[in-house]
Amino acid sequence: MKTFFLLREEQACPVATMDVHVNVKNRQHAIDEYHYGPANPHEPEDHWQKLADIWGIDVNTAQTMKCENCAAFDISDKMRSCIEKGIVGNTKGSSAMATIEKADLGYCNLLHFKCAGSRTCALWLTNGPIDDEDL
Ligand code: SF4
Repeated sequence: MKTFFLLREEQACPVATMDVHVNVKNRQHAIDEYHYGPANPHEPEDHWQKLADIWGIDVNTAQTMKCENCAAFDISDKMRSCIEKGIVGNTKGSSAMATIEKADLGYCNLLHFKCAGSRTCALWLTNGPIDDEDL
């Protein structure tokens, strides 16, 4: 689907940061195909065991592999600014950055949606995240 990769040229932001419908569609793809989750990191149920089984590793190791340290997790100021613009939308006075900070949001450069640092998926890459020093 081309919408995974297109940028809005006028904003130079990924579409999913600006369009919540595209974001949810791409997130569902991540859930269905790459075991993105857990849905509630505070109540993970068997998420980490399933991910450990996918990788063929133990649960403790699987729990060290999160979006927050994945090389596809972009938390650069530029990307977080894109996310902030998308959350603010037309709602004046909302604190989009507070939402970003609370949820530890970044942008997944592989699956093209806003993901959370406390979650993960089967595509996890070592040596992340991407921050301003990498750009
Ligand atoms: S590829 Fe990395 S940043 Fe993207 S959802 Fe998976 S673990 Fe998170």
